[in-house]
Amino acid sequence: MNSDYDYIVIGGGSGGGATARRAAEYGARVLLVESSRLGGTCVNVGCVPKKIMWNASDIQHSLKQAKGYGFDVAPWQFNWSNLKQSRDAYVKNLNELYGRLLTSSVVDVINGFASFVDDKTIAVNGAEYRSEHIVISTGGYPVIPDITGADLGISSDGFFELEERPERVAIVGSGYIAVEVACMFNALGSEVTMLLRKHQLLRTFDESVREALMEHMLESGINIIPNTQISSTRKRADGSLEIQCSNHENILHVDSLLWAIGRKAATDKLNLKAAGIEVNADGTIPTDAFQNSNKPGIYAIGDITGRAQLTPVAVAAGRKLAARLFNREPESRQDYENIPTVVFSHPPIATIGKTEDEARALHGDAVKVYQTRFTPMYYALSDEKSKTTMKLICVGPEEKVIGLHMIGLGVDEMLQGFAVAIKMGASKQDFDRAVAIHPTSSEELVTLR
Ligand SMILES: Cc1cc2nc3c(=O)[nH]c(=O)nc-3n(C[C@H](O)[C@H](O)[C@H](O)COP(=O)(O)OP(=O)(O)OC[C@H]3O[C@@H](n4cnc5c(N)ncnc54)[C@H](O)[C@@H]3O)c2cc1C
Repeated sequence: MNSDYDYIVIGGGSGGGATARRAAEYGARVLLVESSRLGGTCVNVGCVPKKIMWNASDIQHSLKQAKGYGFDVAPWQFNWSNLKQSRDAYVKNLNELYGRLLTSSVVDVINGFASFVDDKTIAVNGAEYRSEHIVISTGGYPVIPDITGADLGISSDGFFELEERPERVAIVGSGYIAVEVACMFNALGSEVTMLLRKHQLLRTFDESVREALMEHMLESGINIIPNTQISSTRKRADGSLEIQCSNHENILHVDSLLWAIGRKAATDKLNLKAAGIEVNADGTIPTDAFQNSNKPGIYAIGDITGRAQLTPVAVAAGRKLAARLFNREPESRQDYENIPTVVFSHPPIATIGKTEDEARALHGDAVKVYQTRFTPMYYALSDEKSKTTMKLICVGPEEKVIGLHMIGLGVDEMLQGFAVAIKMGASKQDFDRAVAIHPTSSEELVTLR
C-alpha cells in the first residue's frame, strides 16, 4: 500500500465516503481511514436503522386504521427481536455495499483509528501516511451525562442494540432524536416517559409544529415531564431502574433509560494540536464557506463542522470539496441556506427555511404567514382524527416564500418537491399558480388563503 496520497479522508461515514469516491473518480489517489463500520452514523446507528423502526411503527399506525376501512384485522403480534435481526442484516449488506463502492471507485481503505502526526501526515495502526490534502469527517458520538448511575442508561446507539422491547422507557432529551425514539417506542407498545430539562420539545423549530407535536404525543399516551433533571439512577433487585428526578419529587421505575441529550464532535483523540488545527469549545472544527480549516490543506465536512448535521449535507459538502480540489472547480462549495429536513415523529414533521420568529426578527412587518389545520381524508373512516398543520412564511410585496413548516400524515414525503421550489425562490403566487392535486393533503399548500 502507498504511503503518499493526493487525498486522505479520515472517517468513512456519509461525508467521508462521498468525498473519497468523488475525488477518486476525478483521478486522485485516495486513502480512506475508518475506525469502525463503513457507512458511519447514518448507516449503522442513525438514519437507516431509525427509518426501519419508524416504518414498523408506521405499519402499527395503519393497522389501527384498518377496521374503519372494513378490514377485520385479528389482534396482531409484534416481535421486536425478529425486526432487529432483519434490520441488522439489511445494515450489514449496506456496510458491504459501501466497501464494494469504495473499491470500485479505486479508494484505498484502512480499518483503523487515525491521528495527526503533523499537518501533512497521519498515523494509523503504527504506519504513517502523507498527503497535501487531508479531510476530517469523523462525525460525533452521543453524550452520556456525568451523574451517578448514568451508565445504566443507553444512548441512541444502544437503542439499536436492544434485543427485546422494554416495557417501560424513560427518554431524557427534547431534540429530534429524543422525539423520534419516544414516538417509535410508544407506537411499538412501550410505556414512554419523556424528561425535559425545559418545557418544550424541538426548541429551534417553528412554534406551530412544536406545539402540535406536543399535543400529538400527549394524545398518543406519552408521558412528558417538563422542567426536570435526573439526579441519579440505580438498579433495583428485579433488574429495573429507579430514576430520581431533581426539581420534581418524581421517582420513576423503568426497564430502560435512554439519554438523547446531544452529540459530541469526535475530535478529542485526533491529536489536532500536532497539525495546528483550531477547534471550537464544543469540539467542532471551524471552517470557512469552502470547508477549509485554519490550516491550509486540511478541511472538515459533515457533523464535525457543527453545521446542519444531516447526511445529505455531509455528502453534498464532501462531493463539492472533491470537485474544488480535484476537478478544477474553484467556486464549488456547499450552500447551507434552505436545507429541508424531516423529523420522523408520529406524525412526522417536515420543515425548511425560517421559522416565523426568525422571519419576524429579520423582516418585521414585511412577513406574511399563511396557515392551515385540517384532518386528512385518510381519517374519514377511523376513530382517530389526527390533524395536519401547515405554515407558509412569506416576505415582501412579492411574498417570496422563506419558510415552510408542516406536521401531519405524509408531510415527510411532501416536502422535497416544495423544497425545490423554495430553493428556486418561489413566491406565494407561484404556489397558487400550480394546479392542486385532489384529493391529497399537499393540495392545501397551493390553495392557502
Ligand atoms: C439516531 C440518529 C438518527 C439520525 N437520523 C437522520 C436522518 O433521518 N436524516 C439525516 O439526514 N441525518 C440523520 N442523522 C444524522 C446523520 O447520521 C449524520 O448527520 C451523518 O451521519 C454525518 O455524517 P459524517 O460523515 O459527518 O459523520 P459520520 O457518519 O458519523 O461518520 C464518521 C465516521 O468517522 C469514523 N471515525 C471517527 N473518528 C475516527 C478516526 N480518528 N479515525 C478513523 N475513523 C474515525 C467513525 O467511526 C464514523 O464511521 C441521524 C443521526 C442519529 C444519531
